[in-house]
Amino acid sequence: MARYRDSVCRFCRREGDKLFLKGDRCYSDKCSVGRRNYPPGQHGQGRTKQTDYGIQLREKQKVRRIYGLLEKQFRNYAHLAEKQKGVTGENLLRVLESRLDNMVFAMGFASSRAQARQLINHGHFLVDGHKVDIPSFRTKPGTVIEVREKSRKIDAISDAMKTVSRRGIPDWLEVDAANFKGVVKALPRRDDLPPTIREQLIVEFYSK
Ligand code: SF4
Repeated sequence: MARYRDSVCRFCRREGDKLFLKGDRCYSDKCSVGRRNYPPGQHGQGRTKQTDYGIQLREKQKVRRIYGLLEKQFRNYAHLAEKQKGVTGENLLRVLESRLDNMVFAMGFASSRAQARQLINHGHFLVDGHKVDIPSFRTKPGTVIEVREKSRKIDAISDAMKTVSRRGIPDWLEVDAANFKGVVKALPRRDDLPPTIREQLIVEFYSK
């Protein structure tokens, strides 16, 4: 699968917002948004005029980057959300949140979604008792996610579990840290997700 290999801090600088893509570094004074709060590149400090299309594009790029997805995957999720009952923008956020890599991150078994993806690829998790190594696997209410017994001593997992209190575990998840296990109690409602995401702009972007 194609992967982006440049510094992801550029994404945050481009959006002018912390997207929390690098785990611990995001909470330190090394964060690039704090140090260079202007878009990357030669013309980053120049003035730019934002069109409606540009605003929609930036919101789409921001959310796509938060979840670490390629354009094709993200567009597929947008189309899937459109076909579901309910409000399309909220459906899209719920579909994104239901991914296994997001759940592993939200439960505190990884310090970023990128790290969660890598740990899942390496087969360190069980889903409802079965090994799953597909980061895009869709979870649902009642899904149980567990760190495999032989993977519980991995530094990346234990370090993430020690520092998760900094960002907190959402109410719609239940985590039993002692047993390296978590349950998806429910998928998040709109109120549970950051108000800074303007999902309607993404819907408008794809409806053209
Ligand atoms: Fe973004 Fe984290 Fe890099 Fe800061 S440290 S710019 S929040 S990825």
